[in-house]
Formats: sequence, structure tokens, C-alpha cells
Amino acid sequence: MKPMGPIPPWFEAEEGMLLIEGSGVAALVDEAGDTPLFVYDMNVVRAKIALLRDAMPDGLHLHYAMKANPYAPLLAAIGPLVDGFDIASGGELEMALGSGMAAERISFAGPGKRDDELRAAIQAGVTINLESEGEAARALGIGEIVGVTPRLAVRVNPDFDLKGSGMKMGGGAKPFGVDAERASALARSVIAAGAEWRGWHIFAGSQALDAAALMETQAATVALAARLSDEVGATPPLVNIGGGFGVPYFPGDLPLDVKAIGLALEEVLTLPPDSLRGSAFALELGRYLVAEAGVYLTRVVDVKDSHGERFAIVDGGLHHQLAASGNFGTVVRRNYPVAIANKFGLEGPEQAVTVEGCLCTPLDRLADKVALPAVEPGDLIAIFLAGAYGASASPAAFLGHRPALEMLVGD
Ligand SMILES: *Cc1c(COP(=O)(O)O)cnc(C)c1O
Repeated sequence: MKPMGPIPPWFEAEEGMLLIEGSGVAALVDEAGDTPLFVYDMNVVRAKIALLRDAMPDGLHLHYAMKANPYAPLLAAIGPLVDGFDIASGGELEMALGSGMAAERISFAGPGKRDDELRAAIQAGVTINLESEGEAARALGIGEIVGVTPRLAVRVNPDFDLKGSGMKMGGGAKPFGVDAERASALARSVIAAGAEWRGWHIFAGSQALDAAALMETQAATVALAARLSDEVGATPPLVNIGGGFGVPYFPGDLPLDVKAIGLALEEVLTLPPDSLRGSAFALELGRYLVAEAGVYLTRVVDVKDSHGERFAIVDGGLHHQLAASGNFGTVVRRNYPVAIANKFGLEGPEQAVTVEGCLCTPLDRLADKVALPAVEPGDLIAIFLAGAYGASASPAAFLGHRPALEMLVGD
């Protein structure tokens, strides 16, 4: 047997049936019409946001990085609970505006923004987080052509990274942002060109569970923003200090101590450096807000044995939930938390089961030798922590199976 990640502690069952927001998952599958199905519980999202707001300093803006989960009903529900959306493509721009989010609360990062994407964003009044001097020149040119003053922030590639993060996105040679030593010159030049300068965007990494590392990075981020603002000689309206808050996916992972992070950030922001007095600060989070709210439900099609090992073959797979197969940004394959949803929380003998997706590739392993109750065809397998980087971050067209269904409950 191999260990699995921790099942979020609030999940309960009724007569062995996993409940989501008070409903048995078999009934939710009936309501949706079929498996595979992602169910997202807005109550969990609301609880995570409340926990954060409570822990973080008053007045800190909270942005949702919508690439984590752009499901339209979820966007519409989360919009009123946050201060803005961070987007990274023209498609996300349309989804964000379509959800009812006001353009002035949207910021657009991401390398390789095309001219038509810049144009749509500038015309809408969205802030562009500039990734390079070249992009700045294109944005200014487009602003002139369409007769709109562009709202521009400078994304900075910081001279440090987020220690212990699953995905480093700052420090050293990176495709994201402008190196810190050139950032103030770029800000000065967009101000001189007549753009509305919105401030700084500094994002150092992702999926960190080490509060001390996040505290250190946030302090360094604020210090960097202060130094750059001094060089510009102007106060930035907004300093986006990034995010990187992780969630416990794997064996041994513990929930992030956001209280400790909030206290440390409060200390940093209570007496900000002179050049940041009057600035607003924003945190941008994706998975922290939504990952734990999602469960992926897939039905066992076949149970078979090979060389003494038991396989449960399901109707879903990595084409919907790539991350659980270990092929999305992890070096070593480890087990996400899984359960048989119709035999949840029952006492009794367990056996080692490998849960294999339906794709004809050995990559499609959703759980490796995990302890589960006796598994039979027709059982529903639940994969937890499926609310972020699932349906929208998986190769849905691979092998021609149907896309997963999605459903929001608790709205
Ligand atoms: C991906 C990304 C995020 C969200 O990351 P999470 O790990 O889901 O919180 C936030 N900001 C930027 C710039 C990103 O690229």
C-alpha cells in the first residue's frame, strides 16, 4: 500500500454515501446526468475566503486568479466575494467580463499577449501587467490607435524566489515580468508616455505550504516595491504582492498557517515605507480559494487483477484531472486523496487498489496502491482537491472521450 493525501476533514457520509453540501453524491450524479463529474461546493469557497479575510490585515485586496477554475457559475458566485480577478488570456478576459466583474477590477498578466488581446483589454479598461518593454510599447501604441489611455502596471521578475514552492515563477532568468533592475525605468517610461500607471505586480511562486517562507517572500516583495517606487519617484496605486498559498494535496502535507502570515503581513504594512504610503496591496490566489471545494467523481467500469495487483478501471482519467495523475507540475508521482464515494467512512477490511483511468496510456494512473474497501464495478470513486487545475487544465481532447460534466452546489 502507498499513502494518499489527506481527505479534507469536513467530509461526511450517510450510510456510506459521501455527502457534498448535504446531498449524497449518487444523487448529484443523477442530477447532473452522468459521470465523470466535477462538483464544486461554494460553501467551501466562502469558508476559505472568510478564513483569509479574518487572518489578513484589514484593507488587503483579495484577487482570484481565474486560471485555477474558470467554470462560469463559479466565477459568477466568487466575483462578489473578492476585490478583483486576475486573468491571463483574451479568453479569460471575455469570461471575466461575462461573469459581471467590473473591468477596473480585472488585471491581465501573462507572457505572449497578442495585439488583439491587448486591444480588447485596453478598450475595456482592464489593467495590463506588463511582461516586457516590447509589450509596453505595443500597449502604448494600441492605446493611441483606439484613443484610450491604457492602465498599465509593471510585472517585476523579483531578484528572489519563493522557497519551497511547487512552481517557481520568479528569481533568475524567467519569461515572466521585467527583471527588477529594469522595472523602474519601464514604469517611468510608461508614465512619461501618458499611460495611467497602476503600480507593481510581483509574483514569486506557487503552492507553498511553508508559512515562514511565504512571510519572508512577502516582506522581500514589499521592500522591493518600495525600492522601485523610490526610483520612480511616485507612489504606486496598487502593489500586487502575489500569492502562492498552497493546499494539502499529498501525504504529510499540512494546511497553511494563514493566521501567522496575516500577523506578519500586518506588521509589514502597518508602517509601510514612505514610497508606499497610500498604496493599496493585493494578494492573488487561485488554488487556495477553490481546490478543496472540488470533488471529481468517476465510476468504476471494470475491476481486474494482474500479477497479484488489483486494478479499478474508471470512466474518467487524466483527460479531466491531469494533476491527480502526477503529470502537472510535480516531479514525483504521489497520491491525491481518494475514496470510494458509496463506501465512505465504513469500518471494515481494506485492500490495495490502483485506480486507473480509461485512457490507453500508462500515464493515466489516478491512485497507486491505495487502501480502499472492496471495489466493484459501478462504484463511484471520489478524487478530492479537484477544484483547481482540473477540467480546464487537462488534455480533454486526448483519446476522444467526452468532457467531464461540472456542477456548482451551495450557491
Ligand atoms: C497561476 C498564477 C496564479 C495562481 O496560482 P495558484 O497557485 O493557483 O494560487 C496567480 N498569479 C499568477 C501570476 C499566476 O500565474
